[in-house]
Amino acid sequence: MADYDVIIAGGGLAGTITAQSISHYSNQNLKILVVDRNPETLPGRKGLAGWVCGDACSKEAVDFMSERIKVQWTNPEIEHDVKGVMAFSPDRETAIPFDGDGFMLNRTELPRIQNERCKKMGIEFEFEIGLTGLIYDGQQVIGIEGIDNKTKQPYKKTSKLVIDATGVTSILRNGLKNSTKVEKKINIEDLEITGRYIMDFEPGQKDLTEFDPDYCIIHLDQDIAPGGYGWVFPKSETKVNIGLGVEKAFLDKRNKRLGKKDNVESLMKEYLQRNTAITNAKLSEDPTDTLGNNHSGIFQVSVRRQNECMVSGGYMMVGDAAWMPKPIDAGGIGPALIAGTILGKNVAEALQANDTSEASLWQYNLDFIKEYGYKTAGLELFRRLVQQMNNEQISYGMKHFLGNLDVEAISKGEHPDFSGLGKVGMIIRGALNQTVAKGLKYTSSENQWLVEHYNNYPKDPSGFDEWNKSLHQRLDASFAKIEAFGK
Ligand SMILES: Cc1cc2nc3c(=O)[nH]c(=O)nc-3n(C[C@H](O)[C@H](O)[C@H](O)COP(=O)(O)OP(=O)(O)OC[C@H]3O[C@@H](n4cnc5c(N)ncnc54)[C@H](O)[C@@H]3O)c2cc1C
Repeated sequence: MADYDVIIAGGGLAGTITAQSISHYSNQNLKILVVDRNPETLPGRKGLAGWVCGDACSKEAVDFMSERIKVQWTNPEIEHDVKGVMAFSPDRETAIPFDGDGFMLNRTELPRIQNERCKKMGIEFEFEIGLTGLIYDGQQVIGIEGIDNKTKQPYKKTSKLVIDATGVTSILRNGLKNSTKVEKKINIEDLEITGRYIMDFEPGQKDLTEFDPDYCIIHLDQDIAPGGYGWVFPKSETKVNIGLGVEKAFLDKRNKRLGKKDNVESLMKEYLQRNTAITNAKLSEDPTDTLGNNHSGIFQVSVRRQNECMVSGGYMMVGDAAWMPKPIDAGGIGPALIAGTILGKNVAEALQANDTSEASLWQYNLDFIKEYGYKTAGLELFRRLVQQMNNEQISYGMKHFLGNLDVEAISKGEHPDFSGLGKVGMIIRGALNQTVAKGLKYTSSENQWLVEHYNNYPKDPSGFDEWNKSLHQRLDASFAKIEAFGK
């Protein structure tokens, strides 16, 4: 007999939400264990760098979870309310709002409170376990193994189902042996290197393009954050989460173009210094920020579509382990909330049927795509296109090519149609801007194909190989074409 019904590997944000959701949908009838490498005093820490995150998340995603699994987030895990995210063009002349009302979270308080709630629901925890792999019985995953860092002894536990919530670097996914459908490794160009500070400051020059207590600000700028963006997210009138993300290849190109040798850390420092609305900034001394030196840190985040297949026999993935962050803004909290909530229901049903085979767990792929995953491949193309553009092209595109419907689509996290581009008489000045227009038309038409393709995701594993083959053929062609727009 297995030690547990479900083991959740990784007690971060996605792992603990999933644990609560499974408990909710099974009426607390299942034996659930959450295993993490962190000590109990540092729950949910991503790694030695801390709980590195922009800390922003939309109210809509929190409501999605709260309404279904009846878990409410309040203060102190919510540190500050915002009215949305505002993305500024490099010339600051255009701003696009998206995501609507939202929250700035306290990422060290959240897991502490999550764990308390989980324990009240009867969910068990094991800390300081460095997981190294999965245990198999033929084609079925039946447990986890690793090292107990408290005793330095091997650690093994068995279960009917293992949920991988160990984040973007997941060793479990990398070494998964019972699936040819789950993608194991991520390409380097799909990872952003990102870092941020949590700081107290004195207000400087009032400039709502630099700091706004009501909005999370995003700066698109290929000199400041090549291949990514910079952000200034308010935690109060005088506290900020400020940081940026870059993609390595675009950073190298930018350094070559400007004759510089910057890295993420030097770019972060420059970004902070040039912000005139923030003066005398100091790393936050609040105990919840000094915990584990969380007030400054660098980590990585994926910016691609979610894994093509998120289940195998006895194994499921959630959160960053499944590459869920949204490809255009690396927002991973929202999809983790949505997926964790959905997953709980799928798990309760599979265990009720006493069947944790790949086929029985398959519905999770479909449910996540229906709720969120249908749009991510198109957004990945959009992200790749924007990365190819220079600052003038981004500013021009944001100013001239975005209609109201496009802004609405972006605000819902969907790929815009740029239907205005087809308008008779529309004059596009300059060859480079013609390229932007062509690129946007191309990604929006590809997006339509991709959304349709995802809506036709196979209903069971038998149709997967064919579906996946045509997805990859289409994507490979699109990636090559998009790269050509940058030449
Ligand atoms: C700089 C930065 C800024 C970001 N900003 C935002 C933002 O503003 N809004 C947003 O929505 N998203 C943001 N994200 C993304 C967001 O932080 C993640 O999507 C989210 O934290 C993912 O949660 P997770 O639980 O899947 O993974 P993680 O938070 O990485 O949790 C993984 C857990 O697994 C444990 N673990 C890992 N490996 C092992 C192992 N081998 N053995 C045992 N335990 C293990 C870890 O200790 C950790 O507790 C940002 C990311 C970065 C890097």
